[in-house]
Amino acid sequence: MAITHNLGFPRIGARRELKFALESYWKGESSLDALKAVGAQLRARHWEDQAGLDLVPVGDFAFYDQMLDMSFTLGNLPERVQGFEGDALDNYFRVARGRSAPEADAQARCGGVAAGEMTKWLDTNYHYIVPEFTADTAFRLDASRLLAQLEEARAQGVGAKPVIIGPVTYLALGKSKDGADRLALLDRLLPVYGELLNTLAAHGVEWVQIDEPILVTELDAPWRHAFEDAYHTLKSVPVKLLLATYFGELQDQRYLVANLPVAGLHIDAINGRDDVMPLLNLLPSGKVLSLGVINGRNIWKTDLNGVLDWLEPIHAQLGERLWIAPSCSLLHVPVDLDSERKLDGEIKSWLAFARQKLEELRILATALNQGREAVRAELVANRAAIEARRHSPRVNNPTVKAAIAGIDAGMGRRRSPYAERAIRQAARLQLPKFPTTTIGSFPQTSEIRVARRRFKAGEIDAAAYQEIMHGEIARCVREQEALGLDVLVHGEAERNDMVEYFGEQLDGYAFSQFGWVQSYGSRCVKPPILFGDISRPRPMTVDWISHAQSLTDKPMKGMLTGPVTILNWSFVRDDQPRAVSCRQLALAIREEVLDLEKAGVGIIQIDEAALREGLPLRRSQWQDYLDWAVESFRITANGVGDETQIHTHMCYSEFNDIIESIAAMDADVITIETSRSDMELLDAFDRFKYPNEIGPGVYDIHSPNIPTEAHMVDLMTKAAARIPAERLWVNPDCGLKTRQWGEVIPALTRMVAAAKTLRTGY
Ligand code: GLN
Ligand code: ZN
Repeated sequence: MAITHNLGFPRIGARRELKFALESYWKGESSLDALKAVGAQLRARHWEDQAGLDLVPVGDFAFYDQMLDMSFTLGNLPERVQGFEGDALDNYFRVARGRSAPEADAQARCGGVAAGEMTKWLDTNYHYIVPEFTADTAFRLDASRLLAQLEEARAQGVGAKPVIIGPVTYLALGKSKDGADRLALLDRLLPVYGELLNTLAAHGVEWVQIDEPILVTELDAPWRHAFEDAYHTLKSVPVKLLLATYFGELQDQRYLVANLPVAGLHIDAINGRDDVMPLLNLLPSGKVLSLGVINGRNIWKTDLNGVLDWLEPIHAQLGERLWIAPSCSLLHVPVDLDSERKLDGEIKSWLAFARQKLEELRILATALNQGREAVRAELVANRAAIEARRHSPRVNNPTVKAAIAGIDAGMGRRRSPYAERAIRQAARLQLPKFPTTTIGSFPQTSEIRVARRRFKAGEIDAAAYQEIMHGEIARCVREQEALGLDVLVHGEAERNDMVEYFGEQLDGYAFSQFGWVQSYGSRCVKPPILFGDISRPRPMTVDWISHAQSLTDKPMKGMLTGPVTILNWSFVRDDQPRAVSCRQLALAIREEVLDLEKAGVGIIQIDEAALREGLPLRRSQWQDYLDWAVESFRITANGVGDETQIHTHMCYSEFNDIIESIAAMDADVITIETSRSDMELLDAFDRFKYPNEIGPGVYDIHSPNIPTEAHMVDLMTKAAARIPAERLWVNPDCGLKTRQWGEVIPALTRMVAAAKTLRTGY
């Protein structure tokens, strides 16, 4: 009997119930109890969805982030929130989001709290709150959250399997605040893990899933040893550990992993399929092998017959030691395909979301345990869907294939080097020192969202919608002029999302209504579905930008999303290399860039917010990715004349290890996210002698905190110590769409004042 289980379920809710409950609580519109009640309802519903599995995850639900949950479980709270007397969940949100201190109150006890740093969870678009360590970090168990959820799951009668993050991954993905060695904390950390596992055992738990995804990255010797240390120390706990890795291959860590003293091992049999056969030989007898055979990272139907062909012999060998599951937590896929009412029927028949993936798991398990005949109809239907997609003319467009074949090296080169372009651009744009700008979006107010919803529902026509959007653009331009910003933006009112907006206008894309995936906290993204060859039937942004430019004499930045980011934030094809899909996108966006230039737009920003997150988990594969990613950006951007200024923008990026590629993109101006790192990110640019202009973000737009002018001047002074002042821009960290006008105006007022102060000093 193959056992079925799941590693994690999307917590946000099929209708984003958690998002709305969180935001309502944060705005003070509902109580903490109401929020907790929504959490309990979602957990109950999700366990019900998974009730057919032998084991379901418990503790995968988090109000903000599973890593932050783990920090609280381990008693590792940043010093700045220790001793808080209110509700623990409220304190948790203080770490997650930061808390603003009104200036007058700065001395008061209830002063502001800086938000914890966020970063991407391995190679996904999910962001976790980075655990903070110092040499003095002490740990203390708080199992209350996990035990409470365990009790709920038990009451519901499901086979409960608590899920925690393993000690080595917890340390590896955290950050030392004082330079102290994180691994030195392992000895202090393990007793708390021991205590936690003993506590779970005392509550009758048999299996605990312990996630150690850093095992699919390259590890040096001390970190490998840490695995030996940790799991030998935990060997004596009276629960069975299922050590879970996902997202990639173990490669040369196979032997290490196979021999750790745990009862079972889960591996990603999609991205790490090459590990499976060697592991079958390495695995000590008696150990459970859980194979993640259903892709937890994409939305395509699994080829069930193909999987069975491969899995049946393994099942014959392992018997009940074989478990099957999705490759990773389903956190990274939307909840339910059945909710989709507008999705093209043909495309829909190729897809599976979280609930459908669990159904696929059920079919696989039935076929293994009772024979394929028991699920004959399901397997026949699955084969038909897989074949139909493979041969559909909607997937294959010969014109696009020909255009890709016609790309030549010249398409990726600017006419002149940066130094010459800079002179022409300065003459054209006439900007002051420390020019101020924003990253593109302004608040997406409820009026904007209501108008879009009504337009999509057919309640208002295109002309009425356009008029409302023009009103928003006019307001945005007026506000920016009043603020005294130097380079304006139109505000992106017409965009629901920086990727979906383009996906909707490109051929080869489909989009869902409810296909939300959590990005961080209450924020979700709805990745469009790249299913076929990509082309641009008509201009996508030119009318909006030209209209905005007509309202002001200041330069108006055209605003596009770059091919790499569109690719990385889409659900992409699994039937051709990512590089090929990316080049198709590059050609389509290039046409848009050239049309904007033709329309007289002098500055064009091509956002590559997600370039870094596309990096493969293993460094040995980085260069190949960077090469095609940079080439795609250059194809997109570099068809313009010297006087046209190309900007790019990147979020959350650490640049040290990719600075050469960033420079190779050759954007005239790059704006980056730096405020939370105190400008340390700029060291990489400094060391590399990065030649072009940089706008290091001076305030964190993810937090409602209003920055002070002094703080922004201080940050820019630090920046100017690294980058010549004449090549610096002043801007926020990222777009402002999630903020309110009431936050944006005071923040930008101070930012413009900071720029004026800086101009007198340099
Ligand atoms: N132009 C986009 C905006 O301002 C960029 C967002 C991003 O980088 N994530 O919203
Ligand atoms: Zn950004």
